[in-house]
Amino acid sequence: MPNESKVHGFATRAIHYGYDPLKYHGALNPPVFLSSTYGFDRSETGSDRFAGKAEGYVYSRVGNPTVSILESRLAALEEGEAALATSSGMGALTAVIWTLLRSGDEIVADKMLYGCTFGLLEHHIGRFGIGVQFVDLTDPANLRAAIGPRTRMVLTETPSNPNMRLVDIAAIAEICLTSGVLLVVDNTYCTPYLQRPLTLGADIVIHSATKYLGGHGDLLAGAVIASRELVDQFRFVGIKELNGACISAFDAFLVLRGLKTLNLRMDRHCATAQRLAHDLEAHPMVARVYYPGLDSHLQRALALRQMSAMGGMIALELKGGLAAGRAFMDGVRVATRAVSLGDAETLIQHPASMTHATYDQEERARHGFTDGLIRLSVGLEDYEDLRDDLISALDGLPR
Ligand SMILES: *Cc1c(COP(=O)(O)O)cnc(C)c1O
Repeated sequence: MPNESKVHGFATRAIHYGYDPLKYHGALNPPVFLSSTYGFDRSETGSDRFAGKAEGYVYSRVGNPTVSILESRLAALEEGEAALATSSGMGALTAVIWTLLRSGDEIVADKMLYGCTFGLLEHHIGRFGIGVQFVDLTDPANLRAAIGPRTRMVLTETPSNPNMRLVDIAAIAEICLTSGVLLVVDNTYCTPYLQRPLTLGADIVIHSATKYLGGHGDLLAGAVIASRELVDQFRFVGIKELNGACISAFDAFLVLRGLKTLNLRMDRHCATAQRLAHDLEAHPMVARVYYPGLDSHLQRALALRQMSAMGGMIALELKGGLAAGRAFMDGVRVATRAVSLGDAETLIQHPASMTHATYDQEERARHGFTDGLIRLSVGLEDYEDLRDDLISALDGLPR
């Protein structure tokens, strides 16, 4: 089915777009093209393809038919012109950064980011002469003050990993537009089913498709969705010549399979997370629950404006701080103690010592999350079993 974004609903696009079975013997599922290279009928065809004068595949680092189907489908879901699939979320981020920035440029980033994104920006990118300012983007006025003559890019997540702060994408996008700066939004937590940053004015969306898009914890993948012009640069410069972070055809097939149930899975993740967030908030051992579906969330109004549902991620702090958090994690039986998120299994982890250990203690305090914070990726198990598991682990804590 050709891509006709907005003509069909989300689920129809997630199941059909980018793939025409009649071109492949009617096969219901796209074939997995396990080929690194592609033969040419004549030498001239090869030179034309290399020069970009003829369509067609040359080498799978730059393009593969299975990967192309995934890319068309992701572009249709995010309502973008084009997409590039990558080997991981970090591969997507670095393809964008290496392609667009040069020594002397500066990035303004929200101060709360996925741990390895923060690690790249705080500890490594300076070696290449690229400056970084971390700013609290929950107040758009801070962005206006931070943008300077060298700023080329603004990078944010919303909700932020791990502490569930929200950034107003439309407000930030307007400031970026008037300043001639590109806005990059990491949409991993929401997926295009809950939030579409390009429609709110962002220039580039990145994903860790390892998480909800794949949805089964059986692959690593990433994606970039943007204008055709930008995606061509990310493909022919970023992936091809700078980072080589291409996705395998088999992983592309697995992401395509995951996408077919994305809306169903997200509906369930959201519904269960909403109920668990209420249950957790009501427990006497819990100090705070951070979930945009709760009235206690400080940016509840923005959440309702920007997201169509509140997602499957919850963060919480216990009254006993870190020690209680660790005992709580050790007390669960149904939830799995593991990093990553967006899987069928409920995953529980401790950001300060795991996903966000790239932030040292002083940085954690400065960037706004506590050592006691626990992150929960609510899975697809029965609500009642998850509720009983979490509540009995809380009941078991020393008072
Ligand atoms: C996991 C994650 C990433 C990194 O993705 P990988 O696929 O693990 O490389 C980036 N951003 C967010 C928000 C993530 O959760």
